[in-house]
Amino acid sequence: MSSAYRGRFAPSPTGPLHAGSLAAALASWLDARAQRGTWLVRIEDLDPPREVPGATEAIVRTLARFGLESDEPVVLQSRRGAPYDAAFARLRAAGLAYPCTCSRKDIEDAARAAGLKTGIYPGTCRERPAGARSRPAWRVRVPDVTVAFADRACGRYAQDLAREVGDFVVRRADGPWAYQLAVVVDDAEQGITDVVRGADLLDNTPRQIFLQRALGLATPRYLHVPVVTNERGEKLSKQTGARALTEDVRGELERAARHLGLPHIGADTRDAFLMRAIELWRERWVAGPTIAAEEASRG
Ligand code: GLU
Ligand code: ZN
Repeated sequence: MSSAYRGRFAPSPTGPLHAGSLAAALASWLDARAQRGTWLVRIEDLDPPREVPGATEAIVRTLARFGLESDEPVVLQSRRGAPYDAAFARLRAAGLAYPCTCSRKDIEDAARAAGLKTGIYPGTCRERPAGARSRPAWRVRVPDVTVAFADRACGRYAQDLAREVGDFVVRRADGPWAYQLAVVVDDAEQGITDVVRGADLLDNTPRQIFLQRALGLATPRYLHVPVVTNERGEKLSKQTGARALTEDVRGELERAARHLGLPHIGADTRDAFLMRAIELWRERWVAGPTIAAEEASRG
């Protein structure tokens, strides 16, 4: 494949790397290496209250222990801002963003009254001037369209944005840019051609594609890999009690690779393991299902 490939791993520094985030990191690294591409690490630290001090350094250090190192300097979203401002200004200029002063309870009540699925914003502030609250959240107006894309792993995925998501927040009332806006701006700015990440983000992708189109940005290819769950079927996270990664580097890599559907590797060294894993990944995801990949790139 072309050497223009650019992939990324984009962890939020809410805790140390665990088995789930290692699998996601390994998947994106393998896909980049299998296509002789560039692999970047971007720290998504736009939510200070959820951030754990030292987590960024710990994540980068742990990734290095597993042989996964960013080909370019690690980017911190918190150090940026101007590009998010610019994207937001364009959404406003296009009449796509509006201020929302609803409380959580307002949204629940109005959604219930309108018979909407919980979590769907009922559009209360769409047509009304901003209320008394000095700092509104900002939402984007989603049209009544279905956004579809071809995921390299999951196949065609379609979402009726208005019905299944509703107008979503791009800037929070307390200030931070929302993940959806920042991820789209950064993937474009960093020239990301391929997003490989956990399947928990599959249903976020149509929102991101909608924003890419609204901002005139290219849509990357997407590959969503299965998320690692605990015995209760919950996605591993600090909240669901993910254990810390052990010192057994090859054992942890072997478990992550098995989770990603690769056969047992059993190499003598970490680097031999990674070399073999790249070959196996290439056979499975690069040499194999090119039809889905081509469909995805045609958009
Ligand atoms: N920062 C997001 C997370 O840790 C991932 C973003 C992405 O890969 O698009 O869940
Ligand atoms: Zn509102």
